[in-house]
Amino acid sequence: MADKKIIIAIDGHSSCGKSTLAKSLARELGYIYIDSGAMYRAVTLFALRNGWIVNGQPDRQKVISGLKDIFITFQWDNETEKNTTFLNGENIEEEIRHLAVSQNVSPISTIAEVRTEMVKQQRENGKNKGIVMDGRDIGTVVFPDAELKIFMTASPEIRSQRRYKELKEKGLDVDFDEILQNVEERDFIDSGREVSPLRKADDALVLDNSHLSREEQLQWSLNKVEERVKVYEGRN
Ligand code: C5P
Repeated sequence: MADKKIIIAIDGHSSCGKSTLAKSLARELGYIYIDSGAMYRAVTLFALRNGWIVNGQPDRQKVISGLKDIFITFQWDNETEKNTTFLNGENIEEEIRHLAVSQNVSPISTIAEVRTEMVKQQRENGKNKGIVMDGRDIGTVVFPDAELKIFMTASPEIRSQRRYKELKEKGLDVDFDEILQNVEERDFIDSGREVSPLRKADDALVLDNSHLSREEQLQWSLNKVEERVKVYEGRN
């Protein structure tokens, strides 16, 4: 693979394997990986702990003024391929995957001020390129000039089955119908919100992975990276 480093933006619906693909790409290419969803989950956890979300409704003003007290960092372990999220120095990687956070993250991520702050931090991470970031608005808002944009999708049932399996394997007591409902609800809120809705960037390549293995998705993406790097090298 050529030396030129590019920005890879991966967007798509909830639970369609964006982070799995993004992590494999980062490993193969020696790039940084940033899980932008974990950042919105971290803000949600902070708000839940402070009692700023009541019956699924966040107190916007409290969340906005609390943003200054939220410091999110990541630690990547190349050996285990594990990405750990820290909130003010505390490892919150496991807690942010719990259903309580999943059920409240979409309303939190509709708050414009929350998005502005997260986008600022995300762009900071991409300053030197060589980055893979996954989320909902990476190719449309965070890095509109990303050299490679991938839009991933799969049917809600397949995505829920994957999430169910993943949580079961972690030993969590989960209900399939509850997960399916959460996946559909998040799709609805993420695609319909006013600020930075989930949508495919015009120049994004669609990857429907309903029937593709992880290896097939990785190979497909690496080919696209190679193509884009060649174009980019030709231009510079
Ligand atoms: O990617 P993940 O499912 O962990 O993201 C959790 C939630 O964070 C999404 O359902 C969405 O509401 C929000 N999100 C967002 N913009 C991003 C990444 C995630 O609004 N770039």
